[in-house]
Amino acid sequence: MNRRSRLIILCALVVGVSVTGYNVWSLSCGRCTLHTLLTLGLPGYVLLSLNLIMAVILLLMRRARVIRERKLQCGCGLRLYPFWHYCPACGSRAPGVEYSSKKL
Ligand SMILES: [Zn+2]
Repeated sequence: MNRRSRLIILCALVVGVSVTGYNVWSLSCGRCTLHTLLTLGLPGYVLLSLNLIMAVILLLMRRARVIRERKLQCGCGLRLYPFWHYCPACGSRAPGVEYSSKKL
């Protein structure tokens, strides 16, 4: 398990313990009943919706970055810099580079 996975699990545990603690406190103070303990209120639905929207935006941004990085990658797997015209490993042309047929 890498560091990022541990951080995600830790954040999920903190959120779960916080929500459970708040719900138990609300139940003990009479602010909710057992029937409404597991239901979300309007702020809960708003937060859940915003989190889902942000997760979708994050996934789209990651996918765009992966596609952008693949465009700069040679067929042999070496990552090419934007100003490189040929791959130094295999000698093939960099993708997206236009060449004129005029001789200098
Ligand atoms: Zn190459």
